[in-house]
Amino acid sequence: MTNINILPHHYITNEIDSTIKSCLNCDDPHLHFTAKPCEDTFKQTKYLIFSAIIDFLPAELDQFRCHNCGFSAFYRNGFTPTHFIKMPAVNSNYQTVISARSARIRCRNCNSTCSAKTSLISSGCQISNLLKAKIATRLRSDVSAKTIAFEEGVSPSSVNRTLDSTRCEFRNNFNFLPLHLCFDEFRGTNKNYHFICLDDDNHVIQTILPNRFKKTISDYFMRFPASVRGLVRTVCCDLNSYYVDLVKELFPNAKIIIDRFHLVQMLNRAVNSMRTDMMNQFEHNSKDYKLFKHYWKLFLKRYDALECTHQFYDRTQKSWFTAEQIVNHGLELADTDFHRAYWDYQCLLEAINNPSAAKLKIFKQRILDTKDKCADSSYKVTKADKVLLTFFNYLEPVLTALDPRYCHYTNGPLEGINRKIKQIQRTAYGYRNFEHFKARIYLQTYLGKDTRSSMKIA
Ligand SMILES: [Zn+2]
Repeated sequence: MTNINILPHHYITNEIDSTIKSCLNCDDPHLHFTAKPCEDTFKQTKYLIFSAIIDFLPAELDQFRCHNCGFSAFYRNGFTPTHFIKMPAVNSNYQTVISARSARIRCRNCNSTCSAKTSLISSGCQISNLLKAKIATRLRSDVSAKTIAFEEGVSPSSVNRTLDSTRCEFRNNFNFLPLHLCFDEFRGTNKNYHFICLDDDNHVIQTILPNRFKKTISDYFMRFPASVRGLVRTVCCDLNSYYVDLVKELFPNAKIIIDRFHLVQMLNRAVNSMRTDMMNQFEHNSKDYKLFKHYWKLFLKRYDALECTHQFYDRTQKSWFTAEQIVNHGLELADTDFHRAYWDYQCLLEAINNPSAAKLKIFKQRILDTKDKCADSSYKVTKADKVLLTFFNYLEPVLTALDPRYCHYTNGPLEGINRKIKQIQRTAYGYRNFEHFKARIYLQTYLGKDTRSSMKIA
C-alpha cells in the first residue's frame, strides 16, 4: 500500500478529524485523522485507507511512569512504523482500514521506549473491536463463516476466533431446572447424534450434549441437586428410546409424555400397511381394489373430518359418493382385523384432537382389550395390535400424552429447533468442531428471545 502521507505531528483537531471519526463510529481521543481517505488496491482487493496517528493524551504524559524503571522523565522519540487496523466497511465497495502510526516516547533513565495505545484494538491485534462486534452480530444470522470472512476482509479463522470469544453457554445455573422439559436428539458433527434438551415453556435450549449416551445425559443432570430435579413436572420424549427409564431415574416426580406425533405415526403406518395387505387380496382390476388403492388418504383421515355432504362422481365405482360413504363402503368390504385397527386409530386421533377424560378412558380400554386378546395363543396378532402392545408396555407415559391436563406440552418446539439446526448445518456444509457448532446454534436460536422463565401450571 502506498500513497500514505502522514502530516507532521503538529496537527490540530480539525474538521476532517471529526468527520472521519463520526463516519468510522470511533471517538477515541488518542486517534487523530490527518488527511482525507485514499484508495488503493492490494491483492485484487480495493481498500479505503484512512491515515491516522495515535498519540498520548496530555494527562497521560503528565502522569507518565516508565514501565521498566518507574522513572518519570522522558522525551518524544518519533513514531512507530505504520500498522493497519481493520474497520467495518464504510463503503460497500471497499475494505476499510486505518493506517496508523503510534507516537513513541523514550525513558531518559533506562532508554526503553513506549508507544501510544488506542482503545480501538486489543493489544497485538489487527482487527478492531468494532469489526469483531460486527462479525459477532453477523454470526447470529444464517450465513456461513466463510462468507462473513470474505465480506469483512478477515480470515475464516478470525471469524471462528470471534465465535469462540462470544463464550456462548447454554444455561449453566445448576440450581435451576425448567418445570417442563423436552428431550430429543439430532445428527451433527462426524455423523454423531447429539442430545438436546429444551425448556417447554419459553422454548429456550437448556443444553446440548456431545452425544446421547445414557451416561452423558445422566452425568449432566446429576450435577443438579436432587431437590431441584424433584421439581421437574413433565418430560416430553420419543417412545423408541431409553429416555423413559432415564427420566424415571433422574426426575422422580416428573410425568413422562410420549410425543403424540410418534404415537399417531406408529399406528398410522400399521393401519396403512394393513390396508395394502388387504387391497392386494382383491383382483387388480376390480372395483374394490381401486377403492382401497385410489382413496388411501381417506382411510388415514380423521373420521369426523371426512366430507359428508358434497358428492362427487367416482369413475372407478361408476357412482356418486361422498368421502364418508367411500370409507364406510371400504369398511364393509374389509375384514374384522382391519375394522378394529381402523377404529383403534380413529380413537387415538380423536383423543389427541379433542382431549377429554372420557376419550382417554375409551382408548385405554382398547389397549387393555388388545392385551387380553393377544394373551390367547390362538389369536392372530395384527400389525396394529403390535403397536397397541407397545403402547401397553409404556401405558402410563402414553396415557399422560392423551391426558387433557397435559395436552399443552409437546415436543413441537423442539422439532422446530431441530429444523433450524439442520439449516445451520446446511449453510456451513457441516461442522467439524462441536463447540463451534454449539456456539452457532446458541447465537442463532437466541435472536430476540426472552430467556426469562415463565410458568405454565399443569
Ligand atoms: Zn525507564
